[in-house]
Amino acid sequence: MSFESLNLEAPLLKAVQEEGYTTPTPIQAQAIPLVLRGNDLLGCAQTGTGKTAAFAIPILQLLNHDKPFDRRKKIRSLIVTPTRELAIQIEESFKAYGRHTGLTCAVIFGGVGQTPQTKALQRGVDILVATPGRLLDLMNQGFVSLKDVEIFVLDEADRMLDMGFIHDVKKLLAVLPRKRQSLFFSATMPPEIVKLADSILQNPSKVEV
Ligand code: AMP
Repeated sequence: MSFESLNLEAPLLKAVQEEGYTTPTPIQAQAIPLVLRGNDLLGCAQTGTGKTAAFAIPILQLLNHDKPFDRRKKIRSLIVTPTRELAIQIEESFKAYGRHTGLTCAVIFGGVGQTPQTKALQRGVDILVATPGRLLDLMNQGFVSLKDVEIFVLDEADRMLDMGFIHDVKKLLAVLPRKRQSLFFSATMPPEIVKLADSILQNPSKVEV
């Protein structure tokens, strides 16, 4: 199994090679083709499995494909994750894997001043990585619009619930476009997570590692 056989195009393949990756991890081998096909995804996977690349690489390829002029620099993919550390790591991954695409991303999280984050948003980004509280805050202040989101990722959903973010997530879901691709990742799948996944995903493909 190689990254070439996953139908990745030159800008992504080149970046993956530069990262020193030779073989897709099991979650990448399963998830990348499904995401590229436009499927919703229910992924049962922990951090350390290569989960981030499993969603970041196909999202970058999909957004890079279809880039009508009027949709540039609008948030077309939103990744919501529970902690600042995860948010920073995910944004760094998007930057690394996307370095040959021209797509831009930004990261927002709480506990720090919002000005550098709002400046980045005002320049316009294709991909936004966020923790839920700061995202809602900046949305309410008019710095973030989610009306152009085509691909939504909920990362570490079980931790999100444990940290009490369920109401924030529901508020976000209420403003996301109905017509979208959604990817849902959780390390565990207790009944409340299954229920949340059901409310977000349509006809999802399931991957487990
Ligand atoms: P993650 O599970 O997304 O937090 O990724 C865990 C670590 O695995 C990160 O440091 C990645 O850079 C690395 N990684 C991801 N995919 C691959 C791969 N296909 N080959 C080698 N390392 C990888």
